Amino acid sequence: LEPDYSFMIRTRTPGGVVTPDQWLKLDAIATTYAERGLRITTRQAFQFHGVIKTRLKPTMQAINAALIDTLAACGDVNRNVVVAANPQLSPLHATVHAQAAALSERLLPNTRAYYEIWLDEEKVAGSGEETEPVYGETYLPRKFKIAFAVPPSNDADVFANDLGFIAIVEDGQLVGYNVSVGGGMGATHGDPETYPRLANVIGFIAPDQLQDVAIAVITAQRDFGNRAVRKRARLKYTIDDRGIDWFKDEVERRAGFPLGPARPFSFDHNGDRFGWREGHDGRWHLTLRIPAGRIVDNGEVRHLSGLREIAGIHQGEFRLTPNQNLVIAGVPAGQRERIDALVREYALDAHARASGLRLNALACVALPTCGLAMAEAERYLPELLDKAEVLLDKHGLRDAQIHLRISGCPNGCSRPYLGEIALVGKAPGRYNLMLGADHRGQRLNALHRENIDEAAILSELDALFARYANERMTNQHFGDYLVAASIITPPATPNNGIAI
Ligand code: SF4
Repeated sequence: LEPDYSFMIRTRTPGGVVTPDQWLKLDAIATTYAERGLRITTRQAFQFHGVIKTRLKPTMQAINAALIDTLAACGDVNRNVVVAANPQLSPLHATVHAQAAALSERLLPNTRAYYEIWLDEEKVAGSGEETEPVYGETYLPRKFKIAFAVPPSNDADVFANDLGFIAIVEDGQLVGYNVSVGGGMGATHGDPETYPRLANVIGFIAPDQLQDVAIAVITAQRDFGNRAVRKRARLKYTIDDRGIDWFKDEVERRAGFPLGPARPFSFDHNGDRFGWREGHDGRWHLTLRIPAGRIVDNGEVRHLSGLREIAGIHQGEFRLTPNQNLVIAGVPAGQRERIDALVREYALDAHARASGLRLNALACVALPTCGLAMAEAERYLPELLDKAEVLLDKHGLRDAQIHLRISGCPNGCSRPYLGEIALVGKAPGRYNLMLGADHRGQRLNALHRENIDEAAILSELDALFARYANERMTNQHFGDYLVAASIITPPATPNNGIAI
């Protein structure tokens, strides 16, 4: 007998786009092989939790039969490429998404091992001599994350990524991208050598230069990243150790051309916009709130069943957002009513009633699934929100759009260091309370109280909500207020604020 091993499987779905047919297949896989439904991650992927070892292979094969793979969704390679989720933002959104998907394909490892192990592909003679021009013999020192943002939305939190592309639109045309490098969320408690960092914008490129620049950045990190100390192996530390000017020169040398001066851009938010929106082509897009990205049936609120019904009639696609929510995208005007009826029947319209705090909350999976978790996150979020909403009501702040993020450990999978309020797990029931990020993903928060329990967290928030309600300026966000009132001083990490 061996222990009852179970696994998490994560899809590679660049930009988080799936067809209704794929949705139905993923639903069936989750129902057949996994526990706790489907889960949307903060990188626009699906996770299946609790897949037992003997069912790994059939699960992988079923995912591939849905024309989705899990290749390079984990490991020291480029991970799932994140793209601004809302297609109504701009007619150029489809172009940006296509470039992101092409880059994701380009950065797949060449190895056939995945197909041989999971899909029974026959091993061919000489297959052990594959070359990996991007990853080399050693792959990358650590995982690598890429995001594409389409201003004015920074829903992708582009500056939290190793490499970012910010679409620059002039006179209605996509003229290119600003390139950002060196973002990352992960840290280790008590180790000042590790820290969250926002990316630097290092220049501008034309659309046809994108893959060359991506490969230049990745291979520079492959060759110069820290392979001795794994906690320091992300690109952000390579840049801080060697300097941003050195890194930019190295990228230009490898790409074979200089980057242009960064072009002006402006983000106005990094959350999702809920409800119906009309796209530039007259089709409609409905963004639904999915608490912690978990698609399950839970009492009256039946996301799994309701979305199954919607997938049965939907003619567009589903888009996962980087904030763990879901867009039912590309709906013809004539079909809105039918989808609305299903949304009501399955109580999927929580976004219409929830507080601003609840709507914008992110949580990593943490316990019981993640082996690194020090405290609860996803399972604790509903209880925490119930209690925090009592405080919001007390101070007349129910509709205030405050971003809350909770992570079970400092690795920061829910991008907690970009939350106006963040809880980062320290021990069971105890968290670091971080405060003061902005609403655009351009300022990190700072540690406010260390290792405190729920009573202390709620007491702190009660006092701060009271001050915010009384002292805030018109349209001033909570994080901005905390900094303006000198309650929080943003941390002096190597790049906290965007350097252009
Ligand atoms: Fe696990 Fe930590 Fe990531 Fe949460 S932040 S999922 S606890 S590694």
